[in-house]
Amino acid sequence: MKSTGIVRKIDELGRIVLPIEMRNRLEIGPGVGVEIFFENSSIILRKYAPSCIFCSETEGLVEYKGRKVCRHCIEELGLK
Ligand SMILES: [Zn+2]
Repeated sequence: MKSTGIVRKIDELGRIVLPIEMRNRLEIGPGVGVEIFFENSSIILRKYAPSCIFCSETEGLVEYKGRKVCRHCIEELGLK
């Protein structure tokens, strides 16, 4: 994990403002989803992109029973 040296204070409602440079770089604008992960004692944010429920692949997804699955996993599972 690379330190940015940026420190922001949390407001009364638990909010922080993500630096504009980071939002621009990752094309995170209003309405874009951000996933929140908890790892050890860290909170990790990641721009939301639908991914395979088995391997996290984000390309070539197919919906199967309401879940996203990649073509490779579908073939491995013998669902095709
Ligand atoms: Zn997969």
